[in-house]
Amino acid sequence: MRWLEPFHTDRVPDPARLGGKGAGLVSMQQAGFPVPPGFVITSDTCRQYFENENTFPDDLWTEVEDAVSGLEEETGKSFGGASNPLLLSVRSGAAVSMPGMMDTVLNLGLNRPAVAGLAELTGNARFAWESYRRFIQMFAEIVFDVPSARLAAAVTSARSRAGAGGGALPVAAEQELVGRLAQIVQGVARRPIPDDPMEQLRLAIGAVFDSWTNRRAVDYRRTNNIPDHLGTAVTIQTMVFGNAGGESGTGVAFTRHPATGEPTFYGEYLPNAQGEEVVAGLRTPLSLGALSEQLPSIHQQLTEIAARLEAKYRDMQDIEFTVEHGKLWMLQTRTGKRTARAAVRIAIDLVHEGIISREEAVRRVTPGRIDELLHPVVKPGPADVVLAVGLPASPGGASGTVVFDPDEAHELAAQGHPVVLVRTETSPDDFHGMVAAAAVVTTRGGVTSHAAVVARGMGKSCVVGCGDIEVDYGAQLFSASGTEVSKGDWITVDGTTGSVYQGRVETASPELDEYFETLMDWADGFRRLRIRANADTPGDARTARQFGAEGIGLCRTEHMFFGEDRTAAMREMIMAPNAVLRAEALAVLEPLLTHDFEGIFEVMDGYPATVRLLDPPLHEFLPGHAETVREIVSLKLHLREAVDLVDIDRLLAEINRLEATLDRIERVSESNPMLGHRGCRLGIAYPEITEMQARALFTAAVRCHDRGIDVQPEVMVPLVAFPSEFRSQEALIREVAGRVFAEHGMSVAYIVGTMIELPRAALAAGEIAQDAEFFSFGTNDLTQTTIGLSRDDSGRFLPGYISRGVIQEDPFRSLDIDGVGELVRTGVERGRASRPDLKIGVCGEHGGDAASIAFFDEIGLDYVSCSPYRVPVARLAAAHSALQV
Ligand code: PEP
Ligand code: MG
Repeated sequence: MRWLEPFHTDRVPDPARLGGKGAGLVSMQQAGFPVPPGFVITSDTCRQYFENENTFPDDLWTEVEDAVSGLEEETGKSFGGASNPLLLSVRSGAAVSMPGMMDTVLNLGLNRPAVAGLAELTGNARFAWESYRRFIQMFAEIVFDVPSARLAAAVTSARSRAGAGGGALPVAAEQELVGRLAQIVQGVARRPIPDDPMEQLRLAIGAVFDSWTNRRAVDYRRTNNIPDHLGTAVTIQTMVFGNAGGESGTGVAFTRHPATGEPTFYGEYLPNAQGEEVVAGLRTPLSLGALSEQLPSIHQQLTEIAARLEAKYRDMQDIEFTVEHGKLWMLQTRTGKRTARAAVRIAIDLVHEGIISREEAVRRVTPGRIDELLHPVVKPGPADVVLAVGLPASPGGASGTVVFDPDEAHELAAQGHPVVLVRTETSPDDFHGMVAAAAVVTTRGGVTSHAAVVARGMGKSCVVGCGDIEVDYGAQLFSASGTEVSKGDWITVDGTTGSVYQGRVETASPELDEYFETLMDWADGFRRLRIRANADTPGDARTARQFGAEGIGLCRTEHMFFGEDRTAAMREMIMAPNAVLRAEALAVLEPLLTHDFEGIFEVMDGYPATVRLLDPPLHEFLPGHAETVREIVSLKLHLREAVDLVDIDRLLAEINRLEATLDRIERVSESNPMLGHRGCRLGIAYPEITEMQARALFTAAVRCHDRGIDVQPEVMVPLVAFPSEFRSQEALIREVAGRVFAEHGMSVAYIVGTMIELPRAALAAGEIAQDAEFFSFGTNDLTQTTIGLSRDDSGRFLPGYISRGVIQEDPFRSLDIDGVGELVRTGVERGRASRPDLKIGVCGEHGGDAASIAFFDEIGLDYVSCSPYRVPVARLAAAHSALQV
């Protein structure tokens, strides 16, 4: 068959062709597990469907008819028949799992004669009519786009008329409801749901294909970088009924705990229910422990199958099962989604159990996931109030203001406001709101509900099944523990413990466990690139070392000039009318800087520390223009009213001082400060600034060396464009070093190098490397100046560029390899051509981005340097690059 594949095929199932779900079912069937018979329409068919302007390929229908006849033969049932009717499920299933993003139709094949047949077969008319009603509801919504709220409202009012609450409806009520739903369908869709089961099937298959392009599926693909052209397969399978009454039920299970990774069989079970109810989270399910009490032999069988599935797939599995009249059926198995913490633990445990290699364990954890492990944890104080406790569905702590509407969450987050999305439950339509929210809370559902699965996939803090919370959407508030919390109020969500707190609760960095350390150790064994950190203070340097940084790749000295005791002296220096006064101000700063450098060298004992000379334009250290003008005006107003001579003198002196500042602000202000008087251009104009920094640095180095600390200073000149700029600064640095060493009667080894952050520097790298002993690519400025794209302002229009597909990625986040990357490659080649042992690193933000790291590895850089919290991500990304993941 060209367009489809029956479950009982001999071919090796290919997830790209059959979708993850279809391939899993075929391989379970091949392994002899109890799988209800079915077949898969391949994803090639879906692609063909879209190419043919949403029409089926020619022979598809004949193949489907044959396959359905095959199912009738295999099961002894008849499709749409009045006795022993065959019912089918029609499900989407892409190669990459997109949980809940596309559509499914269940109970297909029902019409009035088949309902009678089903009632007769099962001896349960209520069940037969309920199945029919559910089919109509689903078909109407998915295939005819009838608003689900209208259908649900009819069900709710039938329930309240029958006094059924959340329980089953009597037969007569179900029959009446079927009639009512049919009227709604006719009114909205202007056509009835077809009775012919093959026609039902044809429409349902088309609707599932179409669901590949619905908004939530498209959003999900964007967020998860899944290509649009893949298309979905459609799995068509004989229905089994978890809601068939006694000894029936349905559940979801994980072969290991999806949140912690512990090797325990873990899952949820809903007696007398259909699968969709577990995932929708409308009823809170029981644990698998309850299943072992109610149906011990089923539990036993399930446990054995789970173990065999895990051994077969060599990874934790997420399985769906149904029990129909005491018979177990396996409906799905797939590699289970897990938290980052669980991903690491499972990978390590599988190595210890001899199932996978260390290399595979390292490959299995993506660098982005490590980032999640470094998420803040909530540190509540005694005064913090817990509003409610639910199920901890996805770990990490986050605070935000409450919103109830996903669109509003999306809007507020776009304006930079952290929000927590609070819902009774979430549906796939809420996906964009969940992406935008800092955390998600639901009042219903279990840890496999939609909210939980989606949040875990995104590494977003999430608490579900929080029954203590009662949401009032109309009044835009929720109440919990006697407290009312309105839209806009702050709450804090702890997805690790399940607690929801009032207000903003303190959060702290997480403690990393032994599994994390083991994985990092293994990754270090594979990588070639060295990883350093960008750290400006001894505190940052300590964090960097704790995360495994092998040195500092960038210490931005300007950050040392900020701070209460320093800004005033720095201003004095900038304001100084001549070199003598400037030297006086610098003399105040020098001991402070020396002290800081000593702190950094102490922490970096045995590791290199690259210290960069002052870089940003001077006006960054002065007060703002408008603010100074305002202050002068206000003082002048006071002066008019002043009568006391002492006051007048004081005010005049203050006005004079501020006017001098204003004059200086005006003189140093620039139209394009990022392209102006900054970097080495400052050091060339004011050599005394470079001198002071070099003296502080070498004095600190010598003092530490004297105390037995292994200091490895690397002095870096910023924003070099011309080789002569570098030479002049280098000469000054070496001269100061010589003087300091002579004064102390001892010397330390050091090197002098440069940032390569301007296109001219990359092109002139050959000549620059004749003098520079190392290069560090400043890819932030290099991106800005290569693309001609402002670092500070591009955020206003770049998101539009990305959403319109003009560019795929923000080039300040992930290196523009074709453009900026070419200059980096050129810089490396030319630099090494004139100095083969030239040490080369990168210290722009790209040093912590996995895709960029792979490129830097490929072109032979020695190290990358990134913020301390990204060091583990970079360590793993460098290992992945070395392993060619
Ligand atoms: C850079 O430009 O990439 C860099 C690291 O320097 P800064 O971000 O301080 O300009
Ligand atoms: Mg820079």
